[in-house]
Amino acid sequence: MKYQTLSGVHDILPEDFVYFNKVQKTVESVAKYHGFSRIETPVLEFAEVFSKGTGSGTDIVEKEMYTFRTKGGDLVALRPEYTPVIMRSYIEHGMHNQPQPIKLWYLGPCFRHERPQAGRYRQFNQFGFEVLGEQNASLDSQIIQMSYDVMKELGFKNISIEVNSIGDSECRPYFKKILISYFKSRRAALCPDCQRRLKENPLRILDCKEEKCQRVKAGAPQIIDHLCENCHAHFKDVLEFLDELELPYTLNPYLVRGLDYYTKTVFEIIENSEDGKAQGTLMGGGRYDGLSKILGGRDTPACGVAGGMERIINLLGSREDKAVVKSKKPEEAKIFLAQLGQMAKRKGMKLFEEFRAAKIPVAESFSKDSLKAQLRSADKMGAKWVLIFGQKEALEDFITLRDMETGTQKEIKLDKVVEEMKEKIKSLKN
Ligand code: AMP
Repeated sequence: MKYQTLSGVHDILPEDFVYFNKVQKTVESVAKYHGFSRIETPVLEFAEVFSKGTGSGTDIVEKEMYTFRTKGGDLVALRPEYTPVIMRSYIEHGMHNQPQPIKLWYLGPCFRHERPQAGRYRQFNQFGFEVLGEQNASLDSQIIQMSYDVMKELGFKNISIEVNSIGDSECRPYFKKILISYFKSRRAALCPDCQRRLKENPLRILDCKEEKCQRVKAGAPQIIDHLCENCHAHFKDVLEFLDELELPYTLNPYLVRGLDYYTKTVFEIIENSEDGKAQGTLMGGGRYDGLSKILGGRDTPACGVAGGMERIINLLGSREDKAVVKSKKPEEAKIFLAQLGQMAKRKGMKLFEEFRAAKIPVAESFSKDSLKAQLRSADKMGAKWVLIFGQKEALEDFITLRDMETGTQKEIKLDKVVEEMKEKIKSLKN
């Protein structure tokens, strides 16, 4: 058998990590600036966290979740998304006892058994920001601002923000009734999936990408016309904050997002092509004030967003930004440490460690024994200096410094090497 990755999953190779690290750094710096702390949770959870939290009627739980029974008999799932887990953790650790709101960010793998296609994987990485314990509309807009900042900082130019409000338990049930009666009379014009949704989750019809359904939904009632007073006021506040922040958003009355726990604000950050066509959702989020109670906690308003690392990385990698990201490689070593003989190798490894502690990048090739091969490597990587540590040098505790441009050599005492090279690099920068 020829072993290879399973369908829909992928290796993240060293060259991909240039992008992975870039996105992670950007997410982290935006999170830190806004006072968010990192959280990580297990990849395995009780399946109920999602069947209750994400919702049993959602595609994620119904069709895509990896669930299995452990040897002990527990029904567990590979995390398909973070939000219910973050809430589980908030409740489990009594975070409501700390000053509110609690601001958290995360980055890690999620699993969904979807049909593999471009931008859709079965194991992918999500990052996200979550604010728990506060209902002020300023937080909804802060989360949107942070999402937009991440995209801007990564160099995305044609992005748009779509926002909507999907109400709460007070106004949504009534709206659902209106929606059902609208679609019922047009049932035959809906795709088979939406005919099923009509019974289980009529809001999702608004979200359907099928052309047939798009035509029917064009005349459908809009939830923003049916929000209760509280939801209406909240949404108005959110939009006022977004205006103040001068964020380029558009109101999309048909945006519902596929998850049960959302209340009030929902939004998506979308990448558009040059001619303005939507390419794909890069980030999506919203407010989920009801989730805590569903998971057995006390009333805890909350709001958050999740972004897909791979989708962002794919886009970064397929555009001219590639050059920009690639050019920002970690500082390249200008010094190459070459060694000859067992004793020099041992002492050389110790010296290498001293350079690391002094934060001076040094390249090496400890696995090679031939000096010629090592000098070839040094030449290939464009090293400016080579430190040659031969048998004589190792015995007498000095090192030979060779300037690769001029070919000149000089001897330096071993305990002065790090200091002297530090000075040389400094003078190079000035
Ligand atoms: P969701 O949790 O479904 O709202 O997804 C949030 C973000 O995660 C999306 O906007 C995508 O960028 C990303 N995402 C969701 N599902 C997948 C998938 N199967 N493969 C890759 N990225 C995904």
